[in-house]
Amino acid sequence: MTGTVFDIKEFALFDGPGIRTTVFLKGCPLRCAWCHNPEGLAPGPEPMVGAGGTRLVGTVMDAVALAERLNRQAAVLRQGEGGVTFSGGEPLLQAAFVEEVLRRLVGIHTALDTCGYGDSAAFERLAGRCDLVLYDLKLMDAEAHRRYTGVDNRLILRNLELLGNSGRPCVVRVPLVPGVTDTPDNLGAVAEAARCVRGLVRVELMAYNRAAGGKYAACNRTFQPAWDEAREENPRTELFASLGVPVMVL
Ligand code: SF4
Repeated sequence: MTGTVFDIKEFALFDGPGIRTTVFLKGCPLRCAWCHNPEGLAPGPEPMVGAGGTRLVGTVMDAVALAERLNRQAAVLRQGEGGVTFSGGEPLLQAAFVEEVLRRLVGIHTALDTCGYGDSAAFERLAGRCDLVLYDLKLMDAEAHRRYTGVDNRLILRNLELLGNSGRPCVVRVPLVPGVTDTPDNLGAVAEAARCVRGLVRVELMAYNRAAGGKYAACNRTFQPAWDEAREENPRTELFASLGVPVMVL
């Protein structure tokens, strides 16, 4: 079985506990206006222009070969109290491939970093094979979610409920976008939702990435932030603390 991967980052420090190797799966059903991985959005390999010329982003990989490569890192990852994280793009778009790789990993802590927009049965299967789920929540208001990500958030909230009921360890992650996701209404609603997740480890509020726009031209896309990038994002941690929800700003 094969899948398309656009990066494998070793020594990753922000994709779950410890020192990790993060596998970035190509393709995402969302189009978040702030996405900092525009080269990961399309499902197939695509050209990207860089300082050294044009290169093809996205490599078709065999599940067995990828698992063997990751298994060879097992001792180092364990030493760093880390593991492997499947991110993207959106890993649920290539669920069968990710599941096949997961099935072959031996003695490695695993995490699934997902936007939650995917088939619920596939989500439960992948989540069930991982030690930790990093679940991205962006906007709780349906209309705002459609406007800024291009899709409805009902499926995302349904999968969050499934995850919450399962008791599986979960970190809810929110990208802070000034004036968009960091409003009191949105972060208050995220705190309420996170409170219902039985296996919640904590909420992580991710600092706004001001370098995100740099890659768009290189992969022939347009970055059009409809917010003031100069404005500092506001994590409003007090909204989480008041509900007893553990929170961390990254
Ligand atoms: S879910 Fe993640 S990868 Fe997909 S568009 Fe949004 S920020 Fe980008």
